[in-house]
Amino acid sequence: MSRQHLLLRELGLAPRWRLRRGTEPEPVLTPALAPVAANLVPAAAAVPVPAAPVPQAEGMPVPLVAEPAALPDWADLQQQVANCTACGLCQTRTQTVFGKGNQRARLMLVGEAPGAEEDKQGLPFVGKAGQLLDNMLAAIGLGQDDVFIANVLKCRPPGNRNPAADEMAACADYLRWQIAHVKPDVLVTLGRFAAHALLQSDAAIGALRRETHQYQGIPLFVTFHPAYLLRSPGEKAKAWQDLLAIRRALTKMA
Ligand code: SF4
Repeated sequence: MSRQHLLLRELGLAPRWRLRRGTEPEPVLTPALAPVAANLVPAAAAVPVPAAPVPQAEGMPVPLVAEPAALPDWADLQQQVANCTACGLCQTRTQTVFGKGNQRARLMLVGEAPGAEEDKQGLPFVGKAGQLLDNMLAAIGLGQDDVFIANVLKCRPPGNRNPAADEMAACADYLRWQIAHVKPDVLVTLGRFAAHALLQSDAAIGALRRETHQYQGIPLFVTFHPAYLLRSPGEKAKAWQDLLAIRRALTKMA
């Protein structure tokens, strides 16, 4: 069994995916196939990225769309986060979780907040959700050095509760500055909190993921948080569609 097949199986995408002949690589779920594994992960062909309407609801929770007021350099930013006491989460964290990956990556992923393991290790997306995210990225040919990954919140909410609006507002500049530094070609939000924060929208993720959005001129895709996909494996097929759209956008901008 090939590595690609194993990755897709890990993603829960069996029965396997097969490309439609003569079309751009769209996944077609077919129950009884004998495809070549290489066909399951489409080759990096140049295909157009979808047009980018920017549907945004009103009354959004966290102001993450303003221009950076005073962009600190990367080292200063890391230090500011490490020493931050701007919200109550500083009292319960083990350590801050700044982010990981390539500071010059073309793809930047934004999640919600550190969990228990992330708080312990000081890194985002470790544990099972992190493994699934790694496999999702590998399925479109991306390794950890091809991405930068950060969260909206840099400190763990106790008990893994949802982020509070005041915490997201207090932490907003850090993510804004991280994006300004990385300058990715493509942004991807994982889960509703990250989508709502960057898009200033409170629309359902199911609606948001059907569009290509823009953040400060950067194409932004909305998809599910890997932790949600672990709980709801039936949604992995939709996540695969999102991955293909993300890869198409990266290919187009290469
Ligand atoms: S969550 Fe953000 S704003 Fe709150 S203490 Fe941590 S780094 Fe500071």
